[in-house]
Amino acid sequence: MQYKGDIDFLLQLNDEKPIDPPPRYISNYIEGRRIMPSNTPLPGPWENWRTQYAVEIMDCLSPWNPTQHIDVMSAAQVVKTSLMENTIGYYMGASPAPILFMSGTDALLLKWASKRLEPLIDSLGLREKLQAPNETEKSRTTGDKSTQKLFSGGFLELASAQSPSSMRSDSVRILLLDETDAAPTFLTTGEGYWDEVAEARTKAWGNRRKILSCSTPTEQQTSTIYRRFTLGDQCEYFVPCPICGKFQLLTKGDEKGSHGLRAEFENGDIKFVYYLCEFCHEAIFEHQKNDMIRGGRWEPQAKPERLRRSFHLNALLSPLGMYSWIDYYSDFIKASKMPDGMRSFINLQDGLPYVASGSRPKAEKIIENKGKYKAGTVPEGVLYITAGVDVQRGKKNDPQNPPRLEMQILGIGYGYRTWSIDYKRFEGDISDPFSGAWEDMHRFACDTNLEFIREIDGFKFPTSLIFIDSGYDTDVVYRFCQRWSNTFPSKGQRSIIRKKNEKPDEMTDSSFKRYRASKLSEDIIIYIISTIYYKNNVYNNLKIERQETGDQKPGFIDFPRDYNEKYFDMLTAEEKMADGSFDDKGRRNEALDNFVYALCAADVFLDSELLNFRAWAKENKWTASEIQKINHRTVIDSMIEQTKIKLPH
Ligand SMILES: [Zn+2]
Repeated sequence: MQYKGDIDFLLQLNDEKPIDPPPRYISNYIEGRRIMPSNTPLPGPWENWRTQYAVEIMDCLSPWNPTQHIDVMSAAQVVKTSLMENTIGYYMGASPAPILFMSGTDALLLKWASKRLEPLIDSLGLREKLQAPNETEKSRTTGDKSTQKLFSGGFLELASAQSPSSMRSDSVRILLLDETDAAPTFLTTGEGYWDEVAEARTKAWGNRRKILSCSTPTEQQTSTIYRRFTLGDQCEYFVPCPICGKFQLLTKGDEKGSHGLRAEFENGDIKFVYYLCEFCHEAIFEHQKNDMIRGGRWEPQAKPERLRRSFHLNALLSPLGMYSWIDYYSDFIKASKMPDGMRSFINLQDGLPYVASGSRPKAEKIIENKGKYKAGTVPEGVLYITAGVDVQRGKKNDPQNPPRLEMQILGIGYGYRTWSIDYKRFEGDISDPFSGAWEDMHRFACDTNLEFIREIDGFKFPTSLIFIDSGYDTDVVYRFCQRWSNTFPSKGQRSIIRKKNEKPDEMTDSSFKRYRASKLSEDIIIYIISTIYYKNNVYNNLKIERQETGDQKPGFIDFPRDYNEKYFDMLTAEEKMADGSFDDKGRRNEALDNFVYALCAADVFLDSELLNFRAWAKENKWTASEIQKINHRTVIDSMIEQTKIKLPH
């Protein structure tokens, strides 16, 4: 009986235990629990309705929601920091997990830790949970340090993008990246973007991980948050008009347009602002904003990658009592009066990346500089020939943009002098390597044997190496490449950083590579091309002026006299941006792309000839020091010898 009594006692104990599963929603956990400190714009208990748009974002972060990546690109005055903090509160207090919070810079991290984190912990009553894992006499490590908080079931680690050393320890389930765009541009650890390196620490948690990043964006070409945002479903927040009820996006709008923010002035000062509804064109006043935000909903604008969501917010949705519409309008006027002022307005108030304009070579100048030879013929000076093929899917119902292949034949000479030899366009279906445009290109190759003739003496140059862009339909390109010899699929990549055990290039800086050959299977090799390196190469060389007498300068690029304007527009389509990247801004750029492929093929061919020479020398028992002396120059000298002009007597 005593025994039975024990069991009853234990059962009774269990019955009395509070059964308290974690609240399903982060928003529910936070509401009524978190008290915002008095030094914040909205002090007092957290109320979800004030920033209704934050609810769906927070709930994507709840453990039951399958979403893994959540990216918020927003204006400065919305709730993005609170989103991070509420997530931290939940995963410390309600459902403990290992958390890593990273800020863009060390300074931002310190500021946040002292001003926001400590009050957060106190307001949620979490201070007592902080404990050292094993507080023995010897180790007096505390669980409550300024850079690390330990609690039962997890920890919170603080780091910045600038301190990559902190990015190598324990795996984390919750990764929070705050102000990603504040991190210095191109902050890489040699293995990729810093945010992606940090993400590697979440891998062990599989589909239970959560990665939230929030930031105001910077320049589109370099923005981390914009890069991440575009991978998600790119949600925008639509709010109902208080008068007609129609859902719309709040935007500044155009003064002459039918809707958007409007201002009334008195003696040059803004008297008041209002918003003209897109549908009923009635005036909406700011005090009505609360109801609009409360009744709003997120609408995806793109098809996301798997388990990714992304959200954009501008400052017009800032909660009532924070950044007002009048603030927004006066900041807009200030920005429009300052040189370059719109750049930060677009980032901070519209929460959008700024699209910087870059420079590009002037097509007219290059056209004036055209050579005297005819397309399809080989001028003097060419040592070998390569080709690049660009694959274009085209657009349905656009006769200017049909599916097609565009091929550039390039002649390479001593000292990187290059000649565009011919430009071919094959229109037609590109989904089958044995028909349509592919078959047309194949027939062209059969007719010409891809040999090009030097007019002066009839010398025939074969095409030594061909690269075909496999970016769109990899499979078709692989299969086509097997129809031809010396032909490989290739793929552009902004830049290629050398891997740890990889040999450096002989011609370029040691940490960057011009290209990389990757084996896809036993018989398929794909060449990855550093497009930034080659586009820079082309753009710099296009600046070299023609010499009226004697040899052209090294690097000079020559074009046949019968190329048309369209070719040169494509060749100079891309703008070189301040950060060194290239942007086509929607212009046709095939001639630049296949030029780059053919140019890289020229390097690959030269490098492979060098290896052949050395291998031949080894077989013929040359000494090590003799073999060492064989270099690119040796290969080129031998080509000069072989392609010497032999005129009949
Ligand atoms: Zn309306």
